[in-house]
Amino acid sequence: MTNQRIQEPRPLRGVRLYRNGAVEHKDHGWTVAGQHNGVHRVSLQRETCTCMDHTARKAPCVHIYAALVARAKTRRCSGCSEPTNRRDLIEVTEDHGSLTFYDGDQICVECAGNHGIL
Ligand SMILES: [Zn+2]
Ligand SMILES: [Zn+2]
Repeated sequence: MTNQRIQEPRPLRGVRLYRNGAVEHKDHGWTVAGQHNGVHRVSLQRETCTCMDHTARKAPCVHIYAALVARAKTRRCSGCSEPTNRRDLIEVTEDHGSLTFYDGDQICVECAGNHGIL
């Protein structure tokens, strides 16, 4: 066990929040569920968050770090352009017969289903 009394640095706590599934992409921004319930809205363009920590310090908080990790792990679907976890994307190959996507496009499961690629 590590020493629980030492507060972990914010980037590490951000990674943990991301791993716990706290980050969601919504309405062109990110929402991050905080540890003390309550959901915070993060804008990565402006590097802002609605939580007290960020409002008080005007510096990246755990939620901004969590959203940065989420963005790094996701890619936009070539179909609906929703950020999708890289593991959940399907690569379009030549033999799929769809005229909508190009060979090598990465699309989400939903788009794959809608276009008969699955
Ligand atoms: Zn925050
Ligand atoms: Zn899609």
